[in-house]
Amino acid sequence: FDDRDGVIWFDGEFVDWRDAKIHVLTHGLHYGSCVFEGQRAYGGVVFEQRRHHERLHASAEMLGFSVPYSVATLDAACEELLRRMAFRDAYLRPVAWRGSEMMGVSAQDNTIHVAIAAWQWPSYFAPEERMKGIRLDLAEYRRPDPRTAPSRSKAAGLYMICTISKHAAEKKGYADALMLDFEGYVAEATGANVFFVEGGRIHTPLADRFLDGITRQTVIALARAKGLEVIERRIRPEELDGFEECFLTGTAAEVTPVSEIADWRFKPGAISLGLLEDYMAAVQPK
Ligand code: PMP
Repeated sequence: FDDRDGVIWFDGEFVDWRDAKIHVLTHGLHYGSCVFEGQRAYGGVVFEQRRHHERLHASAEMLGFSVPYSVATLDAACEELLRRMAFRDAYLRPVAWRGSEMMGVSAQDNTIHVAIAAWQWPSYFAPEERMKGIRLDLAEYRRPDPRTAPSRSKAAGLYMICTISKHAAEKKGYADALMLDFEGYVAEATGANVFFVEGGRIHTPLADRFLDGITRQTVIALARAKGLEVIERRIRPEELDGFEECFLTGTAAEVTPVSEIADWRFKPGAISLGLLEDYMAAVQPK
């Protein structure tokens, strides 16, 4: 990924893609003092850009540091980055981390760095699988208790268990893994939120102990706008037996139907596909 043409916005300036480097003694690398965002541009406009940058700020605050660029500055940086990369449809990755001045656990005065890269990432899951529904395994690790970690932050450190879980699932031929929360309720996939459909009603886990996705919130609003009932609640894994449809939501995943979770089976149906269509319409620039 580091060897390609283009530019990356790095601490307020545009640098050549290949020169956007950091030192090996970076606090963010050693101790996970790093937060990031994932956003998508459609037709040259980043969907919900402001909310993503506000969330980047909030994620950093939960880790005890402040992003040294305002939301407006980050918005402008993304717009200019898209122009320079000549992208209309792209994925953008802002990232903020503690620098390399001090190498202990404590690094109160380390410089906070921020970078934004953009690349073309048409589909998070293979397009041919997406409409048939993707297959998920059940992850071994659980999402951490909010008393164990700032579990609502989009913190790089929290993705350690996501990568372990996703790799384990991929080794068994699955596209991704469903993770439970610390109490054993259904939580989310490794990079997307999860929804279920039963009898025309939509059920999704309460997002008070993991990332409350911006796509999740958008899809809930779209569903309610068309008169569908959306119930946010604790969901036990045994209940998966009774659900007819299942789908994931996320900036990268957009709306992706799920056909299997371990031994449970679902059919990509009218509600999932309808919300996929509604979402793809909603993200288009107005
Ligand atoms: N959960 C996790 C763990 C994620 O990484 C993501 C992707 N950012 C989501 C949920 C979905 O969030 P969003 O819809 O804001 O992209």
